[in-house]
Amino acid sequence: MSIRGTEITVLGGGIAGLAAATALGRRGAVVTVLEQAAELGEVGAGLQIGPNGVAVLKALGLFERAAALANTPEAVSLRDLATDHEVARLEMGANAVRRWGSPYWQFHRADLLGLLAEAARENGADIRLGQRVENVEDLDGLVIAADGVRSGVRSRIFDGVPAQFTKQSAWRGLIPAADLPFEIANAATVYMGPGRHLVTYPLRGGSVVNFVAVTEQSDWADEGWSIPDDPANLRAAFAMATPGVRALLDQVSETFRWGFFNHPVLPTWHKGNVVLMGDACHPMLPYLAQGAVMALEDAWVLAEELDTRPVPEALAAYEARCKPRATRVQKGAASNATAYHLRSAPVRGVAHLGLGAVSRLAPSMLLGKFDWLYGVDVTKRK
Ligand SMILES: Cc1cc2nc3c(=O)[nH]c(=O)nc-3n(C[C@H](O)[C@H](O)[C@H](O)COP(=O)(O)OP(=O)(O)OC[C@H]3O[C@@H](n4cnc5c(N)ncnc54)[C@H](O)[C@@H]3O)c2cc1C
Repeated sequence: MSIRGTEITVLGGGIAGLAAATALGRRGAVVTVLEQAAELGEVGAGLQIGPNGVAVLKALGLFERAAALANTPEAVSLRDLATDHEVARLEMGANAVRRWGSPYWQFHRADLLGLLAEAARENGADIRLGQRVENVEDLDGLVIAADGVRSGVRSRIFDGVPAQFTKQSAWRGLIPAADLPFEIANAATVYMGPGRHLVTYPLRGGSVVNFVAVTEQSDWADEGWSIPDDPANLRAAFAMATPGVRALLDQVSETFRWGFFNHPVLPTWHKGNVVLMGDACHPMLPYLAQGAVMALEDAWVLAEELDTRPVPEALAAYEARCKPRATRVQKGAASNATAYHLRSAPVRGVAHLGLGAVSRLAPSMLLGKFDWLYGVDVTKRK
């Protein structure tokens, strides 16, 4: 059984669709990608790709080219938003490779997307821009719907149950690093405060700093993530932060805000000749930074299964391999919000003390909490 020569349509040219086009093209499928946008997204945002996602990039033959675009953090520092006290430190760098087999990388989203588009084309994919598809039913052959968090295919064909607003939202943006103190600009940091947290890390050789600032506020309920907001609202929400963090946020001249929604787990990921992948089938909160990584895993597994057995069996096998894991990540991401945002000061103090003690006395125990996630390499079957 092989997919060599099989015609496949991929709906959506995001991380999921382009990774699928690359994985399928490498196995000889004839892939057409239909993307509604006139250009492949130049979205100014960072994207963290954990070792389990890097394993897929490696298997797709993209390791060296991706490494040249990536930032590799030595450590992730967890700090108290109000005092700047370092609560815990995750030594990533060489530890990530030793422990999980691949590095932990951070990209400018447009760089990773550009690389995947290049790889998809090199493997024969025809990427057609400005193609908005309303009815996948009109398309022949196998259709892979990678049309994102607000997937029209999911809501039309898979009876998508409406998502629930979590009363959490986030601002994101990029800040030129030139005017920032070196220790802030060059560190990967999670600042944790009551009902809010801020993630910062450098991109593109340290020339820009990416930030995502999350709050539990119910005044914003739109899931689209390219909606501009006034930076003053961001600064007001983080007015209780340390002077260093406030100085960082003072540099923000443009920001976008999006609301977080919990999406129910879909009963099935495939129907007839249509199969979902990426955010279209398992949208998740960003607390584990795994949405794009899960899309990479989906792409690898779907291509491998389609190359091994007839389509109906392959789609069932893909779902059986990917859904339990994606569901666990969806649930894990939702519960991480609680850990970052502890509101009560005494509870937060005790929790931070515990985290700090583990980080100092048994650092590998802290890293070990991520083994189930980062330690899995879907490209290597047991
Ligand atoms: C600010 C932010 C930070 C994030 N950080 C991380 C992170 O650090 N690590 C991580 O792993 N994940 C992260 N994520 C999640 C990650 O971005 C998503 O999970 C990932 O982009 C999903 O990829 P996708 O291809 O499934 O969807 P998308 O990237 O949304 O792509 C869907 C594509 O389909 C196209 N499309 C939609 N409808 C149609 C149609 N009808 N016809 C044709 N084309 C259509 C869209 O134009 C789009 O290009 C983050 C998300 C956000 C918002």
